[in-house]
Amino acid sequence: MNELVKGSIDLIRQLNYGLVYASLEEHQELSRTDLSRLTGLSPASITKITRELLDNELVVPCGESSVGRGRRQTLLRINERRYQFLSMRLGRGYVDMALFDLAGRSLSRHRHQFSQEERTSLLDSLIEAIRRFLPERGVRLACVALCLPGQVERHSGMVRHFPYYDLRNWPLGPTLETTFGVPVLVSGDVRTWIQAEREWGAAKDCADAVLVFVHNDIGVGMVVNGQLMESEHALLGDLSHLQLEPYGQRCYCGGFGCACTLVTNQALEAQYRDLRERMGLSELPEQITIRELCELALEGNPLCQQILHQAAGRLAKVLANLICLLNPGKLLLGGELTRADTLLFPMLHQSLASQLPGEYLVRLQIESTRFYEDPTKPTSVQVHKALRDGSLLMTLLRPGADTSFE
Ligand SMILES: [Zn+2]
Repeated sequence: MNELVKGSIDLIRQLNYGLVYASLEEHQELSRTDLSRLTGLSPASITKITRELLDNELVVPCGESSVGRGRRQTLLRINERRYQFLSMRLGRGYVDMALFDLAGRSLSRHRHQFSQEERTSLLDSLIEAIRRFLPERGVRLACVALCLPGQVERHSGMVRHFPYYDLRNWPLGPTLETTFGVPVLVSGDVRTWIQAEREWGAAKDCADAVLVFVHNDIGVGMVVNGQLMESEHALLGDLSHLQLEPYGQRCYCGGFGCACTLVTNQALEAQYRDLRERMGLSELPEQITIRELCELALEGNPLCQQILHQAAGRLAKVLANLICLLNPGKLLLGGELTRADTLLFPMLHQSLASQLPGEYLVRLQIESTRFYEDPTKPTSVQVHKALRDGSLLMTLLRPGADTSFE
């Protein structure tokens, strides 16, 4: 019972610190009186919180207010250079890394391609790549944020399954935390990207939004009534094995006609090869990537347009389920398939209109995701959230928590 009460007090303390930080982030320069007014916290609480933030140099004075005839007040702002954080996306065969300051400015970035040898011991290779990327001097690391196309356990940072490398129960978060001595935030990438789209991108100010990302699988991130749908269980938001054709191709999961055998990049590339062969279209290249398939479709190639049309119909079946379940205002589509969005989206609209009652489609907007080219930026949303909910601040303010690579 006592633990429960103590837990609640700690949580309130954490949220209050987060509230002060979020107010400073939003308004940039504020006096203690402003902070008290904006947060609803008492002047005494504001004095205590800002003193701790000033002692840590997370916040610095930046002049005086001179409003009205009252006493002049010191203005405070976030010291964005106090800490840096590392934001990464672990992709299929590579890792994108970027160092950010607390204001979200990218200070440096790098993509490391893993050699075949490095892939056999991926965690060691990743640690080595991070060490080489981080500057030798002058970095005070606040935390590491990382996302990847796989199933991640929310709190432990354990990767339950990373299909590309066929890794299971991979201790990514705990190992990086021990190695670098800072909090490590690991997440499945689609779950992170929907948060970034809500925060900065295509779903800004939209309370109900869904992001469907098509690659070699079909990942879904969902925000309902402003809240990210999360679960302690890693297996959430994966529609790869939704059955679309009971007598379809055998899937690696053991089922038949799963969505991932029909509308993923690999599936569409295979359909192209198969159709080209059957139609005897030897003037077309023997095999193409999904990117080239989209380009050919946009140039008017009938075969590629047909493949896209078929994919739109199948994808619409998956989307129709999601729309019935969540009735989102925004449906964001990500993946290389969206390079042909001017063809694909009208096809999707048409297919959805034939499957769903009209009222579901009245407010629905289908758009492309914004952050596909630089995946380190959306990953950084995890850090901004952890600062604003106070959880990362509590770690940084803990005595002896200053981690510097100097
Ligand atoms: Zn399957």
